[in-house]
Amino acid sequence: MLAVADTSDLQRFLDASPSPFHAVAEAARRLGEAGYAEIDERTAATAERGYVIRDGSIVAWAGVDAGSDDGVRIIGAHTDSPNLRVKPRPDLARVGTRQLALEPYGGLLLSSWLNRDLGLAGRVGLRDGSIRLVRSDGPALQLPQLAIHLDREVNTKGLIVDPQRHTAPIFGLGPVAEGDFAGWVAQQAGVGESPEDVVAWDVMTFDVTAAARVGRDEELLASGRLDNQCSCWAAIDALIDRGRGIVALWDHEEIGSGSNRGAGSPLLDAVLERLLPDPARRRRVLAGSVCASSDMAHATHPNFVDRHEPNHLIALGGGPVLKTNVNERYATDARSAPVFAAACEDAGVPVQWYAHRADIPCGSTIGPITAARLGVTVVDIGAPMLSMHSAREVMAAADALALRDALASFLVTTS
Ligand code: ZN
Repeated sequence: MLAVADTSDLQRFLDASPSPFHAVAEAARRLGEAGYAEIDERTAATAERGYVIRDGSIVAWAGVDAGSDDGVRIIGAHTDSPNLRVKPRPDLARVGTRQLALEPYGGLLLSSWLNRDLGLAGRVGLRDGSIRLVRSDGPALQLPQLAIHLDREVNTKGLIVDPQRHTAPIFGLGPVAEGDFAGWVAQQAGVGESPEDVVAWDVMTFDVTAAARVGRDEELLASGRLDNQCSCWAAIDALIDRGRGIVALWDHEEIGSGSNRGAGSPLLDAVLERLLPDPARRRRVLAGSVCASSDMAHATHPNFVDRHEPNHLIALGGGPVLKTNVNERYATDARSAPVFAAACEDAGVPVQWYAHRADIPCGSTIGPITAARLGVTVVDIGAPMLSMHSAREVMAAADALALRDALASFLVTTS
């Protein structure tokens, strides 16, 4: 049964989304095709089905009734993933190679970026104030690992990747002039004839290898950015399928959510004000609302079972995960968990319970931030995966579809 899970639509979403800006554009494209209207935040407009974009974040909604006190169902996820990002003056040259100065973004597994064909994607800001998405046609970079002959103990003592000294990839050969990268990115942006028009960029690395099915019977799905674009895809697909609820896809989760467009920003509040203009009614609606914070979960690594809590082992292919942490790293509690468990039951998918070992610091999500920001009931959930925060991650194909089905049920189940 696992082998027949069709993840081709998710794979298309992943391949179209090498940066948060591309993920938002792809989500918007899908919403637009389904009849959702883009609303400009600077206007007073609204729509029965619509979405607002703020840079690498998007909030979409359908069927939110401004005249009702009924709670709404909200799904939150994040568009960003750890990677390496290009500094403002990146041009370097050593021993005949052109290099780029990069800066690690988020809690990445640095070694996973070695020895891969890397593309560059993101956006550029032009002199006239406009923004353009950019994406290299193919691989533009390689970050070669030091040969084992020059690093004899790497397999026994571990690999050290210094974030400052070891992360400049090779961008080409030959001498480099000031402005070399700016000229290249201007070409990618279609303004190659006037590179001085490119003033700034948010450009980052991605693994050019397409998402692929893996395993004896292709039970697994491998790709960059499964954390958390798998949730983004599932949430958008669920919203379009059910035509009811709110989906908020946030940038900057991997660096703490504190920005103009992270989960700590007023973006979702602003959308709720637009949809529910009466403040008292908005409070009543939120009091009856539930948010599912969907982010990828740690499956139990078969080679490192001892790193996991013994009674909370998580199986790949075992279905969506309810994430708990009494210190509010995850917002799930006895009020919110049954809501998502009921959605899983309704969708006919199993559910697993995650708790972190007490002797290893636990990660967090947008869940507790959303709970604190809106005062709304939040349940932290997600699909299990391995190699989290690697340039290429892996999950069970069946879990992606189970997550989508559970979120679709969640949007329409009434508590
Ligand atoms: Zn995540």
